[in-house]
Amino acid sequence: MSNLLPLRSYLLLLSLSPPRPTLETSDVITPVPLLSKDRIDQLSDRAREVVEYRKSGLSLNHIQGCSLGCAYCIRHTYGLWDKDQPVALMSDAQAVEELVHHQYFRPHVTPVQLFNRATEPFLPRVRPHTFAVLEELDERELTNHVLVITRHQLKPYDIDRLNQLRHLKVTLLFTYSGIGDPKIEPYPSHVAAESLKMMSAPASRMYRTILYWRPLVPGLNDTDQHLAVARELSTHADATVFTGLFYRDQIAAYYKANRLPEPYPDTARRKIVPETLERRVLDAFASSTALFRKTSCAVSYVHGLPDYNGHYGIRELCDICPLSQLELCAGAHRVPRAEDVHRCASVLPEAGGVNVVDISDRAVVVSGLENEQPRYFLQHALGFQVHDVKHPHRAHRHGRADIGWTGVPA
Ligand code: SF4
Repeated sequence: MSNLLPLRSYLLLLSLSPPRPTLETSDVITPVPLLSKDRIDQLSDRAREVVEYRKSGLSLNHIQGCSLGCAYCIRHTYGLWDKDQPVALMSDAQAVEELVHHQYFRPHVTPVQLFNRATEPFLPRVRPHTFAVLEELDERELTNHVLVITRHQLKPYDIDRLNQLRHLKVTLLFTYSGIGDPKIEPYPSHVAAESLKMMSAPASRMYRTILYWRPLVPGLNDTDQHLAVARELSTHADATVFTGLFYRDQIAAYYKANRLPEPYPDTARRKIVPETLERRVLDAFASSTALFRKTSCAVSYVHGLPDYNGHYGIRELCDICPLSQLELCAGAHRVPRAEDVHRCASVLPEAGGVNVVDISDRAVVVSGLENEQPRYFLQHALGFQVHDVKHPHRAHRHGRADIGWTGVPA
């Protein structure tokens, strides 16, 4: 009998607690204004595409606009640079529906990226949307990777809320550059460093943390001191990724128009990490056991899984990887047959014309795809690198731009 009282109290409490709000019933759904249809129609085609496949995952972007003003922001390339306040293109509920019913989405398989091209997911007005989407996906018991890239100040409250998630594999990637020039990064890097430390501190947590050390630019943030500070910061994170700058035409034009020091004489399709800088980073991190060149490698590693982009075939990429991770990726490495590629492509109307040009241990090389999105779908479905014959990958260049590389034969 004495045991029944606490149980009865508990049941009473349960009956008094309001039901957990869903996306449709919660009051905190649209703290940012919802754009009218006319305003949405004025956006560029790419900006209107709220679900878009990018290399590290299927990206959801129904909130657009950011006040942080990083000069090299990818928003330049979507025609969204002048949008410095977040607005919503649809409700969170609609956005989640669009995501999970998208032709590229596979439950438990497709890596997802949240608000990674047009806003900052932890801006105070965007944060409720970030949590609404995460919680809705988690309620559906989806176990997909979800990548959340931030440089904002996080709060102890964020730890508690993220720890409520039970199913998703959430990774927080803290963008940190160490750049001190406020004309290039008005929002200081030390905030991301403090957020990384705070979010990594709990011994037990449901999410993982990555020091996303980027963009590394020669002459700007690559002194020995910069490298030493990043190395120390990396000790707080579950893993570190280093990478360079996307220096696209629209970003270069902005640098020129605003008389910012131009980091490179040319623009490039891929991220730029010159060879000597890469060498110095590896030297500075010689004692690290969790440094990665590729985002997907680090994200997979921190969850104890093989790389979902199948980089293992590009053997020189793995020379800095922990042995246990190498074994995981080696165990998952399966070279697909041409019929496997065609079978995966057959579910996509736009991939009907795909041709398999070559298959090796390293990658499948294809032609006939109109853009990169179906290629990323194939890559994640096969867990194997899929390259476009139009954009050849050079050995030992790690999928990076040619700028700054001379010493290694192509
Ligand atoms: S073993 Fe290679 S493919 Fe796997 S996580 Fe490491 S670097 Fe990436």
